[in-house]
Amino acid sequence: MTPLPPAPIQPIKLGCIADDFTGATDLANNLVRAGMRVLQTIGVPAGVVDVEVDAVVVALKSRTVAPALAVQQSLQALAWLQTLGARQFYFKYCSTFDSLFAGDVRGNIGPVTEALMDALQTQLTVATPAFPDNGRTVFKGYLFVGDVLLNESGMQNHPLTPMTDPNLVRVLQAQCQRPVGLIDHTVVAGGSQAVQQRIAALRAQGVGVAVLDAVSNQDLLSLTPALAELPLLTGGSGLAIGLPANHGLKPSTQASALPKATGLQAVVCGSCSLASNRQVLDFIRSGRPALTIDPLRIAAGEDVAAQALDWAEPLLTSGPVLLYATADANAVKAVQSQLGVEQAGAMVERTLAAIARGLVQRGVRQLVVAGGETSGACVQALAIEQMRIGPQIDPGVPWCHASTELARSQGLHIALKSGNFGTDDFFTKAFGQLASSPVCV
Ligand code: ADP
Repeated sequence: MTPLPPAPIQPIKLGCIADDFTGATDLANNLVRAGMRVLQTIGVPAGVVDVEVDAVVVALKSRTVAPALAVQQSLQALAWLQTLGARQFYFKYCSTFDSLFAGDVRGNIGPVTEALMDALQTQLTVATPAFPDNGRTVFKGYLFVGDVLLNESGMQNHPLTPMTDPNLVRVLQAQCQRPVGLIDHTVVAGGSQAVQQRIAALRAQGVGVAVLDAVSNQDLLSLTPALAELPLLTGGSGLAIGLPANHGLKPSTQASALPKATGLQAVVCGSCSLASNRQVLDFIRSGRPALTIDPLRIAAGEDVAAQALDWAEPLLTSGPVLLYATADANAVKAVQSQLGVEQAGAMVERTLAAIARGLVQRGVRQLVVAGGETSGACVQALAIEQMRIGPQIDPGVPWCHASTELARSQGLHIALKSGNFGTDDFFTKAFGQLASSPVCV
């Protein structure tokens, strides 16, 4: 008998392109919490999407690359998302609206937005980095970070992407060929019909990109129905909170359901943030096994990864173990002055990534990784291309489920925590939460 062809995967509802990795997870997390089943891919994957989801978020690394390259990568992501059947697309950038700013380059949010508009043949899109839950609000087109304007928030001194003008209409106009307009708070306060009328008026005036004011989640939720027919939306992750409702979806535990968690548990921490230091201390105080990774021993040529794996192997069957390079600011400075900042960072990242890989080879199937750069290195070493986004552990950090050759049959549950996120007991509570979270069938 001829085998039946695989059941066709339903077209996805929303295709998202994020300009960096943690931004992608942040967006995916918001979509899941509002009711969408979401898959995140690392770059444009070579393989196919073989799970049924409502949205796919492609994580690029395009925030600080030249506009031409950012455009090329984003268009490639768009073309791939179109093959999945998406009808609406979302370009996600940072909630401080920063991107490469150097020499003649005035940022690449505008060039990428316009390239996506051209490809989708759409006349108007919206732009808002508002994310009230994280203190990012937009009023009269001005971006606030907490209680201060963007250019007083410290972002004016950012080494790669300084933001010296808080007026988003001006900032975006300097990056765009098309006229940039504003849908201000008085319109937003009038609800989605008022926003829709304003969109029609701006379109008639030839405006291509409309900056959207929003000072609260309620603003975002009430204006989103007006965006249902736009092929392209652009924003931080805040704008996402109302989108699932536009597609008839409501918050549900099933949206975040992952396959049942099995296997051994471990934490790899390469972050030296204050929160991570507290989390390491809390784990050690709880009496669980923890091993420090010494950068100077790596520099001396010892096979620190192999030693760490030998230490971990017999302990893994009794519960989670922690392997950490985390140190306080003085200790990190001392190491950096001996080895150089970049070299110390790269060496530690390589070692922790080898440890993560070795742990999975030894049966770890629930892995917490702490540190943004550390996460990037581990995801690469584990050859992860796609992750299904699951339940949130703490704001901005969900459990994910990844398929990887190293954990072929059941896949790997992984949580990627950037530096300052998470409560002090994050490294222990994460496993408990996973054990009690909904499981998909
Ligand atoms: P975060 O999200 O907290 O910024 P990252 O992983 O992005 O964490 O960055 C931390 C960097 O510090 C990484 O490059 C890591 O390899 C490096 N690092 C970790 N521990 C040490 C240490 N003890 N000494 C020097 N560098 C370290």
